[in-house]
Amino acid sequence: MIRHPKRILVTGGAGFLGSHLCDRLIREGHEVLCLDNFFTGAKNNIRHLLGLPNFELIRHDVVHPIFLEVDEIYNLACPASPIHYQYNPVKTVKTSVMGAIHMLGLAKRVRAKILQASTSEVYGNPNIHPQPEAYWGNVNTIGPRSCYDEGKRCAETLFFDYYRQNKVNIRVVRIFNTYGPRMDPNDGRVVSNFIVQALTGEEITVYGDGTQTRSFCYVDDLIEGLIRMMDGPDAFPGPLNLGNPSEFSILELAEKIVGFTGSRSRIVFKPLPQDDPLQRRPDITLARERLKWEPTTQVEDGLKKTIAYFREVLRGN
Ligand code: NAD
Ligand code: UDP
Repeated sequence: MIRHPKRILVTGGAGFLGSHLCDRLIREGHEVLCLDNFFTGAKNNIRHLLGLPNFELIRHDVVHPIFLEVDEIYNLACPASPIHYQYNPVKTVKTSVMGAIHMLGLAKRVRAKILQASTSEVYGNPNIHPQPEAYWGNVNTIGPRSCYDEGKRCAETLFFDYYRQNKVNIRVVRIFNTYGPRMDPNDGRVVSNFIVQALTGEEITVYGDGTQTRSFCYVDDLIEGLIRMMDGPDAFPGPLNLGNPSEFSILELAEKIVGFTGSRSRIVFKPLPQDDPLQRRPDITLARERLKWEPTTQVEDGLKKTIAYFREVLRGN
């Protein structure tokens, strides 16, 4: 237990990353306010925390203002999987932009420190590889992914405007593909899709020819990075890349998952979605230097833990 517990708001706290963050903050003895509208999050992710004296669940949509007294805010509210953020693209933009305005307004009023969960998508389909924070990106403004990418880019702009204009104490992290237990089995992201397909014997759907690359970070490593950034020096607002620099192709990922699950599923090829980035790998030099942070979970170990989780979910536990 720490000596000076803080009151911490986690928006999107019932989602995949948010629920792990709530767990970690509760373990450290803080008071956690978990705010969520349950668009992609689930009560199940935080059920074990309900009833704890230092945990509070607030059903709320960040497109509307809210008044709370808090010391820190982690702003994670936003659907992250392409299927979900493209379901209602106008709402996705509102969530990123109005959500950022409302949370920054709150931070300004109560003088809270605030961290924004931004994304590697701000780099779009990058023509610099790996991507350092100084790279401005290559983003389509009018495509099917734009609601997410541009919403997150505008949120970054708002964070830095509130920082310069109102002296709000901000942190901006750009999260690269992260995976682990509590991913929604139906949210269409590649790790959950492939594992569920492999465990149920369905065909494994590789989009395109599978040569596009991603770099996958295990959730525990990512949460450690978020907390180090929040606790890091005020003079370093970011933006900061957080992700695992070990990069491989989507076809290699499919083969690994088939191997680890012992599945007999066939790998099949489907059309590549529009604007799907061809390569992505974080340059994490800054995180290493400033936060002494780097991922410690090997992808084999992370995938095995995630597979074990999905086996339980599919058994109905
Ligand atoms: P997730 O979909 O599991 O979690 C998002 C949470 O936000 C859900 O609980 C959802 O119900 C909630 N939410 C959505 N719209 C809301 C609204 N208008 N008001 C209140 N709550 C709302 O996704 P995740 O993977 O946990 O992502 C969390 C954050 O991290 C997101 O902001 C996402 O953009 C960012 N991020 C995640 C990844 C990743 O690989 N997981 C990569 C880059 C960035
Ligand atoms: N992908 C795939 N099969 C799937 C789901 C995704 O081949 O069933 C591919 C997708 O086209 C992309 C990569 O895997 O190239 C990562 O997709 P995801 O939606 O997980 O994340 P993002 O594209 O946002 O990085």
